[in-house]
Amino acid sequence: MHIDILTLFPQMFQGMFSLGIFKRAIDQKLVSVGVHNIRDYTHDKHHTADDYPYGGGAGMVLKPEPIFEAVESIEREADVPVILLSPQGRLFSQQVAQELSRHSHLILICGHYEGVDERVREHLATDEISIGDYVLSGGELAAMVVIDAVFRLVPGVLGSEASPLDDSHVAGLLEYPQYTRPATYRGWSVPEVLLSGNHAQIDNWRREQAIQRTYKHRPELLDKAELSSEEKRLVERLRQS
Ligand code: SAM
Repeated sequence: MHIDILTLFPQMFQGMFSLGIFKRAIDQKLVSVGVHNIRDYTHDKHHTADDYPYGGGAGMVLKPEPIFEAVESIEREADVPVILLSPQGRLFSQQVAQELSRHSHLILICGHYEGVDERVREHLATDEISIGDYVLSGGELAAMVVIDAVFRLVPGVLGSEASPLDDSHVAGLLEYPQYTRPATYRGWSVPEVLLSGNHAQIDNWRREQAIQRTYKHRPELLDKAELSSEEKRLVERLRQS
């Protein structure tokens, strides 16, 4: 999987790709990134990437020419998604991350200031993604959120010992509680079943905890989760209690 990022601030991505699992995944060639400075595609001596909005108003707007030229300079297949990060886009979720992880190449455009010229949205971007109903100063943090969620789904990136399958939102539930050593801390003990070594009982306990936790924190998720008839009865009991 390869992701190209168009940004005015390439330095912001240095930390993300020089540490931890993503550095290891890049070193192992499981994933790769290309960080492109939008200013490198300007042609005036001041490298102007933004300009005043037509019609007046506060702030600056990113010009279309350098963004079009940057995308066109990237070697790509015809069906590679060109994603504009924007608070006006469809809402990012684990399902969207899964959908994007099925592509071998993505291009992400980070806006800034008041946003990007509308012609980028209309004639260049093939998708528009928001990471939440709030406004950030730039698309860089949003791009990092998308890249993190997508890269960790690429086989091998999390390492053989870790599996994203039980993670919250993967199967429509929040994850069960996790504990590690010590078995008792300040008088708070780890649930007995987790020390039992009985994997069937542990799996049942975890599934039940995941349902209870989802009911407590995000009950609306249960409407779409795939539950057995016994699990549906558990949800009914929780609703009635
Ligand atoms: N004026 C724009 C509007 O109201 O829709 C907001 C522009 S915002 C200050 C600047 C840039 O930050 C956007 O072009 C976008 O790339 C990024 N951005 C801001 N909030 C975002 C969000 N919730 N999700 C994804 N990107 C976001």
